[in-house]
Amino acid sequence: MSIYGDYIKSVIRTVPDWPQEGVNFRDITPLLQNSAAFRKLIDSFVHRYQEMELDAIAAIDARGFIVGAPLAYELGCSFVPVRKKGKLPFQTISETYTLEYGEAEVELHADAFRKGDRILLVDDLIATGGTMLAAAKLITRSGGLVVETSTIVDLPDLGGAQLIRDAGYSVFAVCS
Ligand code: AMP
Repeated sequence: MSIYGDYIKSVIRTVPDWPQEGVNFRDITPLLQNSAAFRKLIDSFVHRYQEMELDAIAAIDARGFIVGAPLAYELGCSFVPVRKKGKLPFQTISETYTLEYGEAEVELHADAFRKGDRILLVDDLIATGGTMLAAAKLITRSGGLVVETSTIVDLPDLGGAQLIRDAGYSVFAVCS
């Protein structure tokens, strides 16, 4: 957890039963509306990663982009979008993963980075961990080195972070 973890958590809104009954949706829009909080959030990531000699920030569609783009700008890295199926126009490689009901797929452009590049993977939230793990596997398959998987919020009760760690990837969350 980051030094600003409790503060960041306090500006994230929980919306019960959205988008369906039983889900406590963590809504980051109040955080984004608050410029001081948003700055502290990005600073938390910059502080953690500025010495890690990253080549690229890979960010997951769509809320991962909100964190990934300013972080890439601050750290002087390239930015790689990991997108939902069917959104990338050039040659892609993809990874399928299981959802509670059915399957989903994440995609990368085949030329998104060079083999051996040191990559930080970011998203807004880890729930079951399926999305982050699929994206990490996709980067690994493409020859990238996933230095860490990083998120604003981890929901530890769902075991996602543990699943990702068990697969051999490091996990960082600003708050949980
Ligand atoms: P999962 O693959 O189960 O770890 O789900 C993570 C992805 O789904 C992230 O991209 C989140 O944006 C979204 N997500 C899942 N559960 C929630 C939640 N409770 N609140 C906000 N976003 C969520």
